[in-house]
Amino acid sequence: MIIVLRPDSTTEQVDHIVEHIHRLGLKTDVSRGIKRTIIGVIGDEDLVRNAPLRAIPGVEEVVPILKPFKLASREYQAEDSSFDVGFGVKVGGGHLGMIAGPCAIEGREILREIAQSVRASGANILRGGAYKPRTSPYSFQGLGEDGLKLLREVGDELSMPVCTEVMDPRQVELVDQYTDIIQIGARNMQNFNLLSEVGQTKRPVLLKRGMSATVIDLLMSAEYILAGGNKRVILCERGVRSFDNSTRNLLDLSLVPNVKGLSHLPVVVDPSHATGRPALIPPMALAAVAAGADGVHIEVHSCPEKAMSDGPQALLPGQYQQVMDQMRKVAGLFGRQINEPRAPR
Ligand code: PEP
Ligand code: MN
Repeated sequence: MIIVLRPDSTTEQVDHIVEHIHRLGLKTDVSRGIKRTIIGVIGDEDLVRNAPLRAIPGVEEVVPILKPFKLASREYQAEDSSFDVGFGVKVGGGHLGMIAGPCAIEGREILREIAQSVRASGANILRGGAYKPRTSPYSFQGLGEDGLKLLREVGDELSMPVCTEVMDPRQVELVDQYTDIIQIGARNMQNFNLLSEVGQTKRPVLLKRGMSATVIDLLMSAEYILAGGNKRVILCERGVRSFDNSTRNLLDLSLVPNVKGLSHLPVVVDPSHATGRPALIPPMALAAVAAGADGVHIEVHSCPEKAMSDGPQALLPGQYQQVMDQMRKVAGLFGRQINEPRAPR
């Protein structure tokens, strides 16, 4: 539920209400707006069902949130979430996060080459996996911490925020030291211990939709991260399993407006893992921007035939440049922007 305070409520009144809620066994999330303060009540609402909260001085209204996700809901926050993910790059609220890079970090030179090309094309977030969730235990598993170091080095050199996947709660502390955005992959969307662990960090999180997760499942997973106190969650549609094997997954573009109706969180689309086919990635990327996505996540490799993972779906740098130019035009039609990262002062 949300407790809406009167415009003239005092700090003492806010503190008193917060203490009162804590005493009842629930957590609070205080958000001080320009006009009013609202207090989100987090936890088992049965504990406050009979408490006369409306009678407390300073309280104007007590609004129940009927959805199972609370902090992620539009009821909780009406305006779109928008936040900085590093190097001045904003995502959400009309700002697009253009995430690009190789599937896996393979080495310094190849990463630098790919990063320079996507940066020149207008990507504002560099991606690359150091811990790879592979179907086979015999496939390349990623460079681990050495890969994280390379990603950080190249990101700093080019002034680009970086994004990399974490697969295990025990890796969170380490990954957090190197990255600007922590990615939770599709296979771990419902690894609740992992979600809680990244909820304890201060890093923005890119949460990918599980391959058979419903929209509500995705929002409930986001809720785990938000409930831990981490407010910077970006949702990512990357396709779901279907009966049709002509594409790697089935891209659910309707998720974008669907989630936007339910939640204030930014939503990006990954047409690379969704389609698995370079020919289909540009049209789906353009459709994603037109559908209102807050960003597009694309895998790029300068030599896909030598890529150590997901080579067959990688766009070449020239193909990426072309689709970026087109996406910029589509974004412009809708008055949305792609910030260029800026060097730290
Ligand atoms: C990836 O981003 O490289 C990845 C493994 O994606 P997903 O979790 O969506 O399969
Ligand atoms: Mn990949």
